[in-house]
Amino acid sequence: MINELLDGNARFVTGEFRPNEAYYRSIAARQSPKVLWIGCSDSRVSEDVITASKPGTMFVHRNIANIVAFNDVNIASILEYAVVHLKIEDIIVCGHTRCGGIAAIEDGVHENYIADWLCISTGAKEAADRIAAGRNLTRDEKLAILTAENVKLQIKHLRNLALIRNRHEHGTLPRIHGWLYRVENGQIEVLVDGREAARGRPVAAKATKPAAKRKAAAKKSR
Ligand SMILES: [Zn+2]
Repeated sequence: MINELLDGNARFVTGEFRPNEAYYRSIAARQSPKVLWIGCSDSRVSEDVITASKPGTMFVHRNIANIVAFNDVNIASILEYAVVHLKIEDIIVCGHTRCGGIAAIEDGVHENYIADWLCISTGAKEAADRIAAGRNLTRDEKLAILTAENVKLQIKHLRNLALIRNRHEHGTLPRIHGWLYRVENGQIEVLVDGREAARGRPVAAKATKPAAKRKAAAKKSR
């Protein structure tokens, strides 16, 4: 396998890099990706390949089940670099079908580190259980609900991180998108359309502002 990868690189150099040398020279000088991709580590969900993007398009963080953890210095530093330094305006959280992490959340898992990690998605499991209650769903249908709920939960986490929340209080950037990649047919489905923020619809974080104002007013009147 290792030789195949190195042979593949040789083909990349002759078939892609050299014919597009000006582009690759420009990104060698400075990367300016437009998107932060938060996806699953799954080998089938290669963000560049499934979106037909060239290297240099996306800044990337991948982990098991595309989780946005509050206490993870890894994702926090990636977010800070992406938003503050690269000035990325769009963040995509992408889940996918047939996700081993999602199946493990559904079934429960006992391996120490994996179980601890997936604990962060407990809220998604609870939401999916509520939606599925009394509906006699197949396993695949239940997993589909859990996959979507997990993407929504991770977006909620993302919006609650101070770095993002503070920016959303002053505008709509970075826009946050929730996607689902179907490994069976290669298609991406939009679960949460972050483009709506650009069309003038309020982002979720903004809804907390009036409540904060009310609190301040109540404090004043005391
Ligand atoms: Zn996965």
